[in-house]
Amino acid sequence: MISHSRRGVTGPQTPCAIVLGCSDSRAPAEIVFDQGLGDLFVIRVAGNIVAPSQVGSVEFAAERLGTRLVVVLGHTRCGAVTATLEDLQRPASNQSWNMSSIVSRIRPSVEGLLETELRHDHELLIDRAVRANVRASVNQLRHGSDVLELLIRRDGLRVVGAEYSLETGVVDFFD
Ligand SMILES: [Zn+2]
Repeated sequence: MISHSRRGVTGPQTPCAIVLGCSDSRAPAEIVFDQGLGDLFVIRVAGNIVAPSQVGSVEFAAERLGTRLVVVLGHTRCGAVTATLEDLQRPASNQSWNMSSIVSRIRPSVEGLLETELRHDHELLIDRAVRANVRASVNQLRHGSDVLELLIRRDGLRVVGAEYSLETGVVDFFD
């Protein structure tokens, strides 16, 4: 017997959105957006970075499942973004290659901020860096895949950035 919560999820999945979110334990997309089984196609990775397997996952859901909305969901106080800023300020020699592969994908979008006055305001620096990192992931999804570019141009696929506030629980959509 299928329990109540599983009814309707044994057929083909038809998620209403694809979410690329951070692995942070305080930011699970389904709970943030109050969605249930089968509603969201979620990809989670520290720092909501875009690497080939993330692009491939988005391509799969957009192409095969027909989902037409992609949300890159960053969040306030992101540890991966904070670690990247710390690494830029005080490079750690003992960082594993695997963790470096995450930091190196966040670095290009945030390192310019350290050359501004923001470097004197730790909280504001992290805040701006989180948003810059979300925008970078949005741009990489919009322009880093022929499959997605075609779906955007021809089939109305939308890729948007958003930030979840751990403090208020509110999701701020950028555009
Ligand atoms: Zn995070």
